[in-house]
Amino acid sequence: MYDIIIIGGGLIGCSIGYELSKYNLNIAIIESEYDIAITAASSNSSIVYSGMENYDKINYELIKQGSQMMESVAKKFNVPYKKTGSVFLASDENEEKLLDDIYEISKQNNLFDILKFQNEEAKEYDKILKFSSSKGVHFLNTAIVKPYDLTLSYAETAFYNGGVEFKFGEAAETIKKVHEKFEIKTNKSKYTAPVIINTVKKLYFKWDVKKEEAKNAYSYYVYTKKSFNLGTNKVIFKLYTDMRIYAYKTFQGNTKICIKSILKMDTEQILGICFSLLKNFKREDVENIYTWEYYKNDLLIDTNNIDYGYIKVAGKNFASITIAPALALNIKDLIIKHLNCQLRNDYIDKRRDTYNIKTMTDDEINSLIELDPNFGKIVCSCEKVTLGEIIDSIRRPLGARTIEGIKRRTGITSGYCSGSACLQAITNILASETNKKLSEVIKESKNSFVLSGRIKEFD
Ligand SMILES: Cc1cc2nc3c(=O)[nH]c(=O)nc-3n(C[C@H](O)[C@H](O)[C@H](O)COP(=O)(O)OP(=O)(O)OC[C@H]3O[C@@H](n4cnc5c(N)ncnc54)[C@H](O)[C@@H]3O)c2cc1C
Repeated sequence: MYDIIIIGGGLIGCSIGYELSKYNLNIAIIESEYDIAITAASSNSSIVYSGMENYDKINYELIKQGSQMMESVAKKFNVPYKKTGSVFLASDENEEKLLDDIYEISKQNNLFDILKFQNEEAKEYDKILKFSSSKGVHFLNTAIVKPYDLTLSYAETAFYNGGVEFKFGEAAETIKKVHEKFEIKTNKSKYTAPVIINTVKKLYFKWDVKKEEAKNAYSYYVYTKKSFNLGTNKVIFKLYTDMRIYAYKTFQGNTKICIKSILKMDTEQILGICFSLLKNFKREDVENIYTWEYYKNDLLIDTNNIDYGYIKVAGKNFASITIAPALALNIKDLIIKHLNCQLRNDYIDKRRDTYNIKTMTDDEINSLIELDPNFGKIVCSCEKVTLGEIIDSIRRPLGARTIEGIKRRTGITSGYCSGSACLQAITNILASETNKKLSEVIKESKNSFVLSGRIKEFD
């Protein structure tokens, strides 16, 4: 029996788990996959919004609070974070009207980091954009952060301090109230706890508020090769009346072009929009294109049943990453009041050091190699990842158990050759470190094995 069960090990589940792990509580996080945050928080950098254009008061307060907290959270955990600022641009009367609305609502919401500009300054962006801008708004506090590193930092710190158990590969199937406790049935076992935090949208309990059917929308992401130069470090938003486009340079040096629309588009339509947006963009600049379907503004934060020990937070809001630190703190406060528990005095609020050879000086690398020669052996030559980094990603608290887990922690196989030169070596390392047969090594999700079987059997 646990004090608290959190269902779902995404950013929201892990950030709440981290805040609660500072108290003398026995917590379980149930995650259906073999690693945390396998779904939405995987993109290589995401925007930390500062609260602009939000018409919903509760969301707005959380975005503002989260945006203010993010820099210090990222600093504490050594998570890549950069305050880039953003500009919203308009080029005709209708778009100017949208821009004015965004400016006014931001002012009403007491957002002070905004500057409105016109003509001369707007023309600055003509160098990189295909259209001429007449008006713009500059949000100084917009930033980018690495969402997977953020989630991993929360999860590792909670796990390392004890008190939080991760149940990987277990899908919660039902939630029942049995007397004063909740009973969670998974595909493998049964667990009970007086408090449940359900972060999985499609896992319903009888008290869940059924939201009205929301309209579907699509996000299209085009990643360019690193050789493409966006021409600015800011996040550029172009406002259209029927669509939203933004582009920015990620930590890896690629440009990410995002198109949000209710229209279903094919590759040529997506590329056509990119051509009409960016002056220097060419077909050969494209590295990857992804499409996501989502429900507009689909975020449910229901704390009305806290007196009975049940909280539901689920949905994929455009700013869930931004709100995560603030939301976790608010939910922790509610639960602490409900359970009346004590702060631990042995808590180490720090993530264990990580190693990234690419960002270290020669002196730092040489001292590391002296301690462990594996940091001098390159395994993934495209991304310059060493054997030492791969082994650390497996052995550290809450270490990787899949190839995708190692990739997200170290960057292996995300370079030019997509793993064709090093995947076999990495599979061997993971098998030997986890004491598994090669044919048991999992690529990403359930039943996705790297090897489908042997082609020859020998005596
Ligand atoms: C395309 C896209 C772009 C985004 N961009 C931004 C951005 O730029 N800035 C920003 O602030 N936000 C952004 N967001 C929002 C943010 O990334 C996500 O909403 C956020 O990561 C969601 O976190 P979560 O923990 O709620 O959900 P998830 O990450 O989906 O976590 C839920 C977890 O529950 C697990 N699970 C599912 N079913 C079960 C079950 N039955 N039992 C146990 N576990 C289960 C899943 O495997 C998953 O790990 C974006 C979202 C999307 C979709």
